[in-house]
Amino acid sequence: MIKILEDLCIGCGLCIESCPRQAISLIGGVAKIDQRLCKHCCLCLGVCPRDAIIEEKAITKSELALEIGSLKKKADNLVDRIEKIRQRRST
Ligand code: SF4
Ligand code: SF4
Repeated sequence: MIKILEDLCIGCGLCIESCPRQAISLIGGVAKIDQRLCKHCCLCLGVCPRDAIIEEKAITKSELALEIGSLKKKADNLVDRIEKIRQRRST
């Protein structure tokens, strides 16, 4: 599902122009998506200057666990690299 993060939206209207389905409109100065019209083409995702448009995807528990594992590895790797740099500077 494509969603607008309303707190970030400044009502510039760029997403409205990008949508071939006329699924987006400004209501009270904030963009809203009519989910009945949206066909998930994702054309609106790249145009928002505030990154207020996101695609929400359902993921399974095992996919989430994999993603967390991968992020943990990256974080551990970064910590190792920072520690090596710190050691090099102190010698
Ligand atoms: S995903 Fe496509 S159809 Fe849906 S709101 Fe964005 S531009 Fe319109
Ligand atoms: S492009 Fe972004 S900031 Fe502009 S109206 Fe759409 S959601 Fe709001």
